Amino acid sequence: MWAELEPVGRSERSGGYRRFAWSRADQDLREWFAAESARRGLDLTEDRMGNQWAWWGDPDEAVRAGDPGVVTGSHLDSVPDGGAFDGPLGVVSAFSAVDALQDKGFRPQRPIGVVNFVDEEGARFGVACAGSRVITGAMTARRARGLTDADGTTMAEALRAAGRDPHEIGRDDETLARVGAFVELHVEQGRALVDLGEPVALGTDIWPHGRWRLDFPGEANHAGTTRLEDRHDAMLGFAGAVLAAREAATTHGCVATVGKVAVTPGGVNAIPSAVTGWLDARGASPRAVRRAVADVRSMVEQVGGVVTEESWTPSTPFDASLGARLRTLLGDVPVLGTGAGHDAGILANAGVPTAMLFVRNPTGVSHSPREHAELPDCLEGVAALTAVLEDLAGGRSPRAGGRA
Ligand SMILES: [Zn+2]
Repeated sequence: MWAELEPVGRSERSGGYRRFAWSRADQDLREWFAAESARRGLDLTEDRMGNQWAWWGDPDEAVRAGDPGVVTGSHLDSVPDGGAFDGPLGVVSAFSAVDALQDKGFRPQRPIGVVNFVDEEGARFGVACAGSRVITGAMTARRARGLTDADGTTMAEALRAAGRDPHEIGRDDETLARVGAFVELHVEQGRALVDLGEPVALGTDIWPHGRWRLDFPGEANHAGTTRLEDRHDAMLGFAGAVLAAREAATTHGCVATVGKVAVTPGGVNAIPSAVTGWLDARGASPRAVRRAVADVRSMVEQVGGVVTEESWTPSTPFDASLGARLRTLLGDVPVLGTGAGHDAGILANAGVPTAMLFVRNPTGVSHSPREHAELPDCLEGVAALTAVLEDLAGGRSPRAGGRA
């Protein structure tokens, strides 16, 4: 499977992947998913957003019996110049786990589903996890249709170009009702497991995170003729804020990044009259993140700038009883929180009992062609996922313990 996926959407220039939602590469990946599903005798369905679900067993019969299915999988799209593992490792491991179960003659009491979520990275239309957000109602169909890519193509137009009806998309409770539990396997992002000497970890939660806009006023003037003491340079306040964000993150134990900036008028020989920067801050503790942002805010306000919160997402805990069950099953594997968003987080917020497994990434580098996992670790991940599916699909209901 890995060899087949390897060339799809790969950029010759960077060596990274450009697998954007509803592009040619994405269509090829969807066809690959359908073929892999057929090869195993799974029943392929698509929900209202075009997420692909490959079922072993009848998911609707299970819903009628009050014992909905166990789903695993991930996504096949990528960020610009992304790595090979983020997403595909979860999908390939899901099919491999199904193979392992089929090979040993396992008969699931509860159906097992493999999912390929569309547009997880949001690389094209700017909203991450668009596939799961739309079916859970976290993003309205209307908003999704109107999102535009860098060329000004709307998602509605992209869907139409891919042969789909954009008015079909929307919340899909029928699909969600089939998911009694969701376990997403993912390559580790950031570096922890290499230091712990462990190949696989259990995810506990997705960190709280937010975005803030920082606006600095100034006055445009000539870069050559304006004396230093006469200047009102918006860039100086901004520069101070970037350094303050780094210091605040260190002090409070979280992470903060200023990765985007807009300068007006934006001329090499013009003193900036306005600078707007965007701050992204995340951490295991919401209080730490809030404190760090408060430090940045007080610095920004001292120089006459304004801080506006654009988004705040609280911590998303995965299901505690499902997590405890998996930890017992997998023998006290390490537990990790993550600063990255995932479809698993969107499903958890929609009330689906959810868990994640992380496979060691020796450098921690992610969203880059350098992203990597060693084959033996990937096989450990498959073994863990196989054990989890066997337990959840063969034993008592994962809903039995209730939601955390
Ligand atoms: Zn991912």
